[in-house]
Amino acid sequence: MKKYLIAGNWKMHKNISESEELIDAIKSKFPQEDENVKLLVAPTFTNLYFVYQKIKDTGIYLGAQNCHWESSGAFTGEISPDMLKSVGCNYVIIGHSERRAMFGETNEKINKKLHALLSNSLNPIVCIGETLQQRQAGKTFDVLEDQLTNGLKGISNEQINNIVIAYEPVWAIGTGVAATIEQVDEAHNWIREKLVNLFGETAMQTIIQYGGSVNENNSAELFSLENVNGALIGGASLKADSFIKIYKNALDAE
Ligand code: PEP
Repeated sequence: MKKYLIAGNWKMHKNISESEELIDAIKSKFPQEDENVKLLVAPTFTNLYFVYQKIKDTGIYLGAQNCHWESSGAFTGEISPDMLKSVGCNYVIIGHSERRAMFGETNEKINKKLHALLSNSLNPIVCIGETLQQRQAGKTFDVLEDQLTNGLKGISNEQINNIVIAYEPVWAIGTGVAATIEQVDEAHNWIREKLVNLFGETAMQTIIQYGGSVNENNSAELFSLENVNGALIGGASLKADSFIKIYKNALDAE
């Protein structure tokens, strides 16, 4: 059975009362837990425990948007995997293009975070994707190759299915212009093949999400592609109706 993960990245949006309004709306529209189609919200650090209290018995999963690789110490302003686990997180997004572009996140740092998360039994969502200039220069697959081989360094065949890959072409994030269905199909097929080369047949089951202007209108077609296992969603995850409609499109595609 094909698996899907529908994840909402709230980015730096929503204070506590706004988070309450959004999570209550999502909860009230969430159909019910499905073994193969999971729903996840990733609020800001300051809202994690509050949102966890709201969703802990619902089957909705909790994710964070970043972490440090050390477990504790003199790292002012940072949060460790253990701390994220202690507030109810199951997943942590790492290597988002905004963090790569604005906060110096390199493949090397992403790899350290990846290992730290797995050591704490947390599921990393590793974001990869090319910029517009890289695509126009014909470098898309060189970039993905570099991000996958260096970002996933040291991962065993047994660990690969605890990791989620989110393919997010940078030019499609927050722009309202998603990649075309052909571009998504080509990239996801390439990523699947690469993962199988690196980690063997077990990687046929690895969740590969698409991210970049996913909404309730384009998600059904995206989810029908063989190697698309859900979505990482920014803007549309801040509207309960849209977010749940996308989730239902995944249920229908299952
Ligand atoms: C994202 O933040 O990862 C994202 C894909 O955003 P959006 O859905 O708004 O393009």
